[in-house]
Amino acid sequence: MNNMLACPSCGLDETESIVHFDSYILRCAACGEAIVATSFMAMLESDHAFSAFADPGPGKHLAPEMLIARGPLRQIATTISGAASNGTLIRLIPEPKD
Ligand SMILES: [Zn+2]
Repeated sequence: MNNMLACPSCGLDETESIVHFDSYILRCAACGEAIVATSFMAMLESDHAFSAFADPGPGKHLAPEMLIARGPLRQIATTISGAASNGTLIRLIPEPKD
């Protein structure tokens, strides 16, 4: 979703989108360094579709059975917030646009 930012630790520019409690974090896909954090609430006006997974860790593959929700972000935000409210890391993957 955002490849414009490079990790300050390792310099890689691949990021993963993570929700942790009510924060939205861009995390380095290699070393796991948090690069940018904002409020998840600031994302909720988006109609862009995402798949939300229980996060297996930086750079790890997502298993289909880890899927928590899929759809336009404003529709799945409550499910994501509920899943993230106990500290579980939620990985957001943007769905390809048609
Ligand atoms: Zn890094």
